[in-house]
Amino acid sequence: MYKSVGIYYPQDEMTTVLLPVTTGCSHNKCAFCSMYKDEKYSEVEFPDIEMQLINGDRYTEKVFLTGADPISIGFEKMKKLLDMIHKYLPYCACVASYASIRSISGFSHEELSVLHDLGLRLLYVGFETGRDDILKLINKGHTVNEAVKQAKKLNEAKIPFNAIIIYGIAGKGQSEDNAIATAKMINTFAPNSVITMNLTIFTGTELHKMTERGDFIPPSGSERLIEIKTLLENIEPDRPIIFDTTHPSNIIKIKGRLPDDKERLIYEVKSRIMV
Ligand code: SF4
Repeated sequence: MYKSVGIYYPQDEMTTVLLPVTTGCSHNKCAFCSMYKDEKYSEVEFPDIEMQLINGDRYTEKVFLTGADPISIGFEKMKKLLDMIHKYLPYCACVASYASIRSISGFSHEELSVLHDLGLRLLYVGFETGRDDILKLINKGHTVNEAVKQAKKLNEAKIPFNAIIIYGIAGKGQSEDNAIATAKMINTFAPNSVITMNLTIFTGTELHKMTERGDFIPPSGSERLIEIKTLLENIEPDRPIIFDTTHPSNIIKIKGRLPDDKERLIYEVKSRIMV
């Protein structure tokens, strides 16, 4: 029987039907993350998933797969899962999920196209930063090159995705440089949106221990605002994308479309820096 300690989902999926696919995190090593520390990674058995679908609302139009990285179950199981969702929820036009760069790299372009055609229509991907030294520091398990490669693969397979990044993650004195590098990375592919999270140092995480030892110094609030401003100044999308800082962790809540709303968004951040 399926059992999970914590279920996490993006705030935009607050009203979406949730379908548990994995518990825990297959990586579980990111220095900043406390989400699945006490939970062992496992896959939810297909009979349990089927039972949830049988008892679901046939007219559901969107489903969010829960778990740190549900697509880590691999191509054949994802295909089976999407077929099953289609069987029991025939009106479901969008299956959304978190996905890691590492897991996406395990799928070929053709496999991703198949999953797209079977209904996988939105991924939330943690890019975090465009700096390799910081990715290494936080033990994210991918490099910038790998992230760019996988993002382009998603674009080619026409699977829309939201890029999640964390400001403050590079530490004191590094925020502007981190924003420029992160914007440069984002400019090489086409996400639906850039979702920012503000670095929070949770007790018990490796980053917390690093901070206690003085090996990591978090930036101040104003430095973090400068990071958001610099990010906005340097993101130059080929096609419109949403820039969204409305997740509860953020120190400023703004949302708009780039490039059209760029000046307004920068103005809103600048007015906070001056306070
Ligand atoms: S950030 Fe994501 S991949 Fe990293 S440990 Fe947390 S849940 Fe796992």
